[in-house]
Parts: sequence; structure tokens; C-alpha cells
Amino acid sequence: MTTQKHFSHVNGKMLVENIPLSDIAKQVGTPFYCYSNTAISENYKDYQQAFSTVLPDQDTLICYAVKANGNQAVLSTLAKLGSGADVVSIGEIRRARAAGIPANKIVYSGVAKVEPEIEYALNEGIFQFNVESEPELELISQVATRLNKEAAIAFRINPDVCANTHAKISTGKAENKFGVPISKARIAYNRAASLPNIKVQGVDVHIGSQLTQLAPFEEAYKRIAQLIIDLRSDGHNISVVDIGGGLGITYNDEVIPSKQAYASIAKKQLGHLNCKIIIEPGRSLLGNAGILVSSVVYVKTGEERQFLILDAGMNDMIRPSMYEAHHEIVAVDQSQTDLKTYDVVGPVCETGDTFAKARQVHESKSGDLIAIMSCGAYGAVMASTYNTRMLAPEIMVKGSDFAVVRARPSYDEIINADSVPSWV
Ligand SMILES: *Cc1c(COP(=O)(O)O)cnc(C)c1O
Repeated sequence: MTTQKHFSHVNGKMLVENIPLSDIAKQVGTPFYCYSNTAISENYKDYQQAFSTVLPDQDTLICYAVKANGNQAVLSTLAKLGSGADVVSIGEIRRARAAGIPANKIVYSGVAKVEPEIEYALNEGIFQFNVESEPELELISQVATRLNKEAAIAFRINPDVCANTHAKISTGKAENKFGVPISKARIAYNRAASLPNIKVQGVDVHIGSQLTQLAPFEEAYKRIAQLIIDLRSDGHNISVVDIGGGLGITYNDEVIPSKQAYASIAKKQLGHLNCKIIIEPGRSLLGNAGILVSSVVYVKTGEERQFLILDAGMNDMIRPSMYEAHHEIVAVDQSQTDLKTYDVVGPVCETGDTFAKARQVHESKSGDLIAIMSCGAYGAVMASTYNTRMLAPEIMVKGSDFAVVRARPSYDEIINADSVPSWV
């Protein structure tokens, strides 16, 4: 069972940093996401410390993967700590810039960058395009030439290694859509060097998410190191290696390698190449810095089991339905009751709207607060209004302060987003 720092029970009642969750619930209603600002900062500083300890002479840039959680309060927190951003769309560039992340700390990944996105990124002056195919490279060259700008590029290399993670979040096997196959990389770089307004700058790799072992990283980095040597012998000036994100977190009982051990792998495989190292962590910065808080609507006794029916559903947090993900589920107030076995479900009209089966939770009744743990990454960002349910608000806590960092919308906002043509 995971324990999340800054989310702890004191005298049976759950606090976020110094604030009782029940106080927040009273003011904002449920469901809501709740983030610990201190946890986010500490996770960032852990990475910084690990890389500066293990690779003291190396220029390292942390580019937070915005897609894990793009809330402006989250991005501003990281911007103030010096973080860059790994983005996958023009929307994420705009988010990162709005939060004060400098353009020259932005790397742009994503398999299908379109022309307006490339133009926007060039005009902003981002640090690097992580190019995922040769056709994309051609388009970047055309747009850069038209704008009379230079595009610094790395190819995202698909090293064909197995990340040993869930199939839907594995990205570094030959069968996945991501990146340029390592066997074709030298041809791709030669092509890049021949194109106008392209500056060959780096090599990029990202093999998947929620990795719990270092071996796949090590294998990928080893292949990348050899490629960098080959590319240099082909005459390319490779000064940046972007080693992606993907380090996992403890959701249940996973034992995750330390950030220091992860940095040591980077040093061992890539340290001798004298490149600037970019890392793109997402989940490992945010995942355990947030939770989703909901209320029990009904306790329903079925033929064979007891259902705890929550006011949060798969539209708010889709990870269990989409990835069979395990999230700890705990009663916010554990002072009165003993554990009981429940299927914990949401209100959405889908059988897949199930957070957990046969789970031990403190005996609960209608109105009690339930926390779904480890929801800071790939939680709010993947939410939808399916079933015309309003997006859950997001709350950030720091010490004894809390703020609504995204408000619950109104039904009018949702309904008025549609329009009816006169001919209907
Ligand atoms: C999603 C993604 C990341 C972040 O992955 P995490 O597992 O959240 O650390 C980093 N780089 C790229 C290119 C990504 O698509």
C-alpha cells in the first residue's frame, strides 16, 4: 500500500499538507482534484539533485512533460523552479509560455505536428523539435525557410526496446508509431543535414511510461550512445541528448528505482559523450502529488457484493478503465469504522466505470468522502464531460493555504458551447 507524501491521516482524518480535506470539500463540493504544491516542488528538486550529484559537470535541463498535468498553477510552480517543458501540441506550447516557461527551454515532441503548430513554435523560438518522421522533417524545413528561421532538430529514435509496461503506454518498440527506426537513423540525419534552414542538434528517445525497471532505459541509452558516435563520424554535430521521461511511480506496491539510480544509468551510458542532457519527466513529478476526492452517493448491496457508488466517474479519471490501472482508494475519515470489502464504482452509464473491485475500504455511508490516490498525472488532463458531467475542479494546497486553480464550470458553459443551425 502506497503512502503519498503530504497526504496523510492524522487522528484518523486525512490532511493535504496542513489542511483537512473535509474543509476543502465543504467549500468546493465534490468531486475535485487536489494537488500538493510542496510535493511537486520536492519531486522536481529530487531530479535536480540526482542529476547534479551524479553528473556534476553536465549541463542538464528538466523539461516537464506538460501532457501529464497542464494546469497553469502546476506549470507556474515548475517554471519558478527553472523547469523547461516537453510539449506535444501548439496548445501545450501556449500553456507553457503563459506560465512563464521560456521558449528556449521548450522541446516539441509529437507524431503529427501540423503547419500552424510548426510556424508558431518557430516564431516563439523553441529550443528543439523532436522530429518523428522524414515527412515531418521536410515540412519543418519548408516552414522554417518561408519564415527565414532556423529549426534546431533532433530525431526521436525508436530504439526497438521493450519497456515492460502496459501496452498502451509503451512507445519504444519497432511496432509502435513513435519515432524513426534506429536502423534508418543515419539516413534520416544525412537527409536533415542537406535540407535548408534545419540545424541538426540532438538525438531524442522516449520508450514509454510507468517504467519500474532501469534495464530498458539502459538498453535504449546504450543504443543511442552508439548512434551518436556513428552520427558524429558521419559529420553531424550532436550536442544534445534528450533521454525522455517514463520513470514510474508507486501506485500500489511497485518498487521504483531512485532518481539517483536513474541518473547513474544516464551517466554510465551517455556521460562520456559530452552532450547537454534533457530529461522529460511527467508522471514522476506529478503522479503522487495529487489525488481525486469524491463523495459516496450510495452504498448498494448487490446479489454478491457491496458497491460503493461515488460521485466521481471514469469521465473524471479514466486510468482504471483505460489501462486497468490500480489506484489506492481510502476513506478520508477513518476514525470511526473498520475495513469492509467493496466494488468502488462511478455514476457513468458504462460497466467500465469501475475504480476497483473487491477492495478493502473503511466502512462508508452516503455522504462520506473517499480519496482516490496517485491521480496528479494523467488524471484531470484526460477528463471529459461524458454523460454531461462537469469537469472536476482542481485545487492546489501549499502549507495552510489552498486555492481553486481551475473552477468547476457551469452547465450553461457546457450547453452554450453548442449551437443549433437555423435549418434544424
Ligand atoms: C508522455 C511523454 C513523456 C512523459 O512521460 P512520463 O511517463 O509521464 O514521465 C516524456 N516525453 C514524451 C515524448 C512523452 O510523450
